[in-house]
Amino acid sequence: MSDKNSFYVTTPLYYANDELHIGHAFSTLAADILSRYHRAMGNHVHFLTGSDEHGQKVEQAAKARGLSPLEHTDKLVEKFKTLWELLDITYDDFIRTTEDRHKKVVVYALNYLWEKGDIYEAEYSGWYCTPCERFWTEKEVPEKVCPDCKRPVQELTEKNYFFKMSSYQQQLIDHINNNPGFIRPEIRRNEVLGFLRQPLGDLCISRPKARLSWGIELPFAPDYVTYVWFDALTNYISAVGYPFDMEKFNRLWPASCHLIGKDILTTHAVYWSTMLMALGLQLPQCIFAHGWWVTGEGKMSKSVGNIINPRELVARYGLDPFRFYLFREMVFGLDATYTEENFVLRYNADLANDYGNLCQRTLPLLIKNRGGIFHKKQPTLPQSHEIVKLAEQVKAGYIDAMENFLFHDALKHIWSLVQRLNKYVDECAPWKLAKEQNFEVLDEVFYTIGEGIRFCTHLVEPFMPHLAPEFFKQIGCAENRVKIPDLAWG
Ligand SMILES: [Zn+2]
Repeated sequence: MSDKNSFYVTTPLYYANDELHIGHAFSTLAADILSRYHRAMGNHVHFLTGSDEHGQKVEQAAKARGLSPLEHTDKLVEKFKTLWELLDITYDDFIRTTEDRHKKVVVYALNYLWEKGDIYEAEYSGWYCTPCERFWTEKEVPEKVCPDCKRPVQELTEKNYFFKMSSYQQQLIDHINNNPGFIRPEIRRNEVLGFLRQPLGDLCISRPKARLSWGIELPFAPDYVTYVWFDALTNYISAVGYPFDMEKFNRLWPASCHLIGKDILTTHAVYWSTMLMALGLQLPQCIFAHGWWVTGEGKMSKSVGNIINPRELVARYGLDPFRFYLFREMVFGLDATYTEENFVLRYNADLANDYGNLCQRTLPLLIKNRGGIFHKKQPTLPQSHEIVKLAEQVKAGYIDAMENFLFHDALKHIWSLVQRLNKYVDECAPWKLAKEQNFEVLDEVFYTIGEGIRFCTHLVEPFMPHLAPEFFKQIGCAENRVKIPDLAWG
């Protein structure tokens, strides 16, 4: 059992055949925000991301560029890492499926399940789409074209290796029913339970080397390589020491959260979970499947040409507004529509007007009239009392939202305090108090505003890691920041 203050979060492994877009950036940013939040809560965070580098598409993409597969993925991995640097992603480990530390775990797991009898060989026949690297059943291809890419499919019969996924169906259903927080949000949980109402088949886990050579060889069948599932999903355990560094593994496993997009829900909730059961390992505490960013033309895809490039948005608006927008606008778990107008609207309303203005209309006054110093005052005005109470409620609501992946709600809580503080400035009119030289009340007003900004800035920092330190500096508390549980008024 992992230590209770540890928080181990993962992103999907991104497939190294093409550059990343906002969909990938989004999963990774969510993991980064969660990691920063848990660090601020005083937890031990381990944040894993990486790259999935085997398979036919990588082999083909490499060939098209005149490179070996590894030369090709080396270059792409550099690009992935450059993007994570640009987005200030604080991952602790980046695993590549081509690394020895990973490959030896895949071989170990395959051997273990082969000896256990959970992997067997059988004839397999179906309709195969080469570009998509997948088989379809007779029923799925009435026109003999691939439902995904619309290219012609070929009938193929071959010997392959299968994982006895079906043996674990009931155990998985029981686990989902007994652990309501295991698959989130609830619509995804229901989707998986619906899927499991049909008999679960076994999982084809191999490809003949004759057709695919860029992969990890099956230890018990040298003419075959293992196909994506055992190759990629096992990264979540190989990266944290299984089975060769069990001290580390026991400290971090089970993972607190696998963050994924909803398109890979079945592979995680069903394939990966049953693989773990077969290996005799605990399941992750949570698999959270988020929705997609869509534009007017539907899901982003290269063929539609509606891909949003995170690099361009960051260059135009800055990193923190980009991070803020993505998580303020989307109800995490559902789809959201991206439009640039909306982005600009949020930017102006929430960041510039609310947060920015609060500082701009008070801090220069503080400097001019009180030498830039907040004098500690107990609240006496009814509005000050109201704000102290609200700040405590906001903190509690924020923590509750963050623990439940409700990022937009967490931000809403913070903004309710920001907006109340702006109203407080209007009500108390510190410029008038300064003119009247009513320093007793003026100090209380400044102190309330300063404390309010300090509260908000602590809470918003996981979302805005660059602007938050600026705000701290402006209110003179860059040196004495606290962990969120210790954040208290006064
Ligand atoms: Zn296809």
